[in-house]
Amino acid sequence: MMKNIWWILLLSFGVQANETYKKEGVLEFEYGDGQHGEYITRYHLQTDAGKLSLNFSDVFMKKAPIHGWLGKRVEIQSQTPIKASGEQRVNVIKLIENVAGSNVSGSQPWVSIACKFNDVAVEPNDQAYFNGMYANQPGGLDHYWREVSHDTINVAGSMAVDWVSLPSDREVYVPVIDGSEDADLDLLFEDCTAASDHLVDFSDAGNGSAFAGINMMFNDDLDCCAWGGGKWYLLDGVQKVWRVTWEPPWSYSNEGVIAHEMGHGFGLPHANNSDGDGNPYDNVWDVMSSATGFAVDDNIYGRLGKHINMSFKRRLGWVNDNEGYIAQADSDETVIIDETSMASTTNERFALIPLSDGSYYTVEARMKRGNYESNLYGEGIVIHHVIEGRSEPPWVVSTDNPQSDNERREGEVWKVGETFVDGIDGFSVEVLSVTSNGFQVRIKSIDDLIFADGFDS
Ligand SMILES: [Zn+2]
Repeated sequence: MMKNIWWILLLSFGVQANETYKKEGVLEFEYGDGQHGEYITRYHLQTDAGKLSLNFSDVFMKKAPIHGWLGKRVEIQSQTPIKASGEQRVNVIKLIENVAGSNVSGSQPWVSIACKFNDVAVEPNDQAYFNGMYANQPGGLDHYWREVSHDTINVAGSMAVDWVSLPSDREVYVPVIDGSEDADLDLLFEDCTAASDHLVDFSDAGNGSAFAGINMMFNDDLDCCAWGGGKWYLLDGVQKVWRVTWEPPWSYSNEGVIAHEMGHGFGLPHANNSDGDGNPYDNVWDVMSSATGFAVDDNIYGRLGKHINMSFKRRLGWVNDNEGYIAQADSDETVIIDETSMASTTNERFALIPLSDGSYYTVEARMKRGNYESNLYGEGIVIHHVIEGRSEPPWVVSTDNPQSDNERREGEVWKVGETFVDGIDGFSVEVLSVTSNGFQVRIKSIDDLIFADGFDS
């Protein structure tokens, strides 16, 4: 029945309708992650006529829940005529495809292609390194994604092909624009896939269907950044949004960065902490924020990925609400939440607390265990406040006014005897005890009278 419902989300800010111009196409994102902390997000509309860079106002971006719309068909509306290419100001964007399509499940094979700039000879790693990175054993990406997705996805069938040379020198792909290097991601993609095409059939991953994603390994720096996102393109007869990453040597020397960029390829934005500084890389509990912080070190593949927060797992369909405890407005419930890397559990994987303003909390348990979590900052309950329209929807909550980074991280992990009290609806989350695989937690709504009297919201 649901499939007959076309969800339409309409966002409109400050539009004085004289004449409205419309265009339909596929929404593409590119997330740039800088080696030195730079962060860039670009939005494109791929139309039949070409590719537009979408320009939204700040107000629009703060309210637009478009971060789950990678690869979706949308209609943009503008007060200015729609161009064939270049930058387009957008006043309205409509999703014209079922929102449930953000699930990622099953076989997700990727291919790594390795491309050398014509004027750069070095091959930082060999084909065996890139092939081994996909292994289904601890430290390999197939093993990693199976664990992180609770066996919802695998990347079995992923493979790497050997180095090929690009037709042009690095400066053609990474021109200096206004004094800084700016990688031409489209040209890099087009030339790297073309140069590798004799080595790989992009339409056949050996499982009867096309590769899901393409990791492009380059032999020198791009611009500031490693990049991940999606690209609408025709390869070996298959036209679709490919999951794509653009990786310089510093990124593939730490598999956690590759995991982060692949996460963008799966449609995820960043997670953040609550310090309000805009830097989206300082949530040390999430590979989609701090890709390598407090990560497990592998002697071949460097810092490995950690888990991702429960709101992202839920968005991708890697956990469902039957596996968690969903609080009600009058809840007072004690539940056991098992640590996030458990392969299976009869306890809760998470708790979710919906709030009256439309935002919500996720409550998860983290322990220093296993192949990807054993170097975490600490052990306890970690709570994210999630506002879906925010550029980083989940922010890990902390006790107030930390004086240092370590104090802030300490405030983000709730231990036995500690209680988080929410300032929106007055829920409390009290950590009662440690259990064999997690924590016993009491989740309680506090009635309005006490809330009004006792808490400063
Ligand atoms: Zn990123």
